[in-house]
Amino acid sequence: MIVGIDAGGTLIKVAYTEKGKVHFEKYPIAEMEQVADWVNGLGDCQVCVTGGKSGVLVSLLNQSVQEMVEFEATHLGVQVLLKEMNLLEDAYLVTNVGTGTSIHCIQDNVQERLGGTGVGGGTLIGLSHLLTGVTRYDEIVELASRGSRDRIDLKVKHIYEGKEPPISGELTASNFGQDLFSISSDLTKEELLATVIGLVGETVSTVSVQAARQCRSSTIVYIGSSFIDNPLLKEVVKSYTILRGSVPVFPDNGEFSGAMGAMSVL
Ligand code: ATP
Ligand code: MG
Repeated sequence: MIVGIDAGGTLIKVAYTEKGKVHFEKYPIAEMEQVADWVNGLGDCQVCVTGGKSGVLVSLLNQSVQEMVEFEATHLGVQVLLKEMNLLEDAYLVTNVGTGTSIHCIQDNVQERLGGTGVGGGTLIGLSHLLTGVTRYDEIVELASRGSRDRIDLKVKHIYEGKEPPISGELTASNFGQDLFSISSDLTKEELLATVIGLVGETVSTVSVQAARQCRSSTIVYIGSSFIDNPLLKEVVKSYTILRGSVPVFPDNGEFSGAMGAMSVL
């Protein structure tokens, strides 16, 4: 069996090939020991690990394993996914919305990290929890999908009252920017959570389309577990990316790119 593991700040992603078939699993980082026990019990296998927590995982393993820088692993994994979708181009951007967000330009098989933002999936969970008390990711995204941002976000058209704005009035001028003092106790969890996802999605896509200027492509491949079962985040990121003239791609299993890339070198 060959096994690729991406141990990130929040989730451990595992890709393994057994009898020619690829399997994917993910675990919370708190279950690191169970993942290590599983690997230790496999017997004859080859393992490659990547991600910020890979050092901790390696210290729990009985066998020697290969290690890889996560940016390289992610790049290789995305290449495999794009090939499968017949979308592989000579140049594209990759935005990985993990706990934090990292942006990369891939040109002629070489990846370069262009930057990122601390606004990512960790912000999504953390800010959501602080505002509403909700702890579970699936509950956060479900409630958010039923919420409206209308009473919380300030749009350009709200500022340009009675006057034609120089840019689209529908753009967000200020996330959480409306006069909230008088309605704060009246706002629902659904509204607050939808607005948190709006903040994360608009920040991630704004930084990505700006980074695209440093890359000779305008295709942006969005990956990371923050998109799992999260159609609202996808929609915010997709519409903003298109509005700014770039082409968004959301590959299936994109959150397993790092694990797949690690597996691909074995
Ligand atoms: P990083 O790459 O920044 O080190 P990571 O690899 O752990 O972190 P991902 O797994 O890509 O990051 O994404 C983590 C995010 O995915 C979380 O912050 C959260 O928003 C979202 N998420 C999706 N499913 C879950 C889940 N079951 N539990 C917790 N968070 C989840
Ligand atoms: Mg990661």
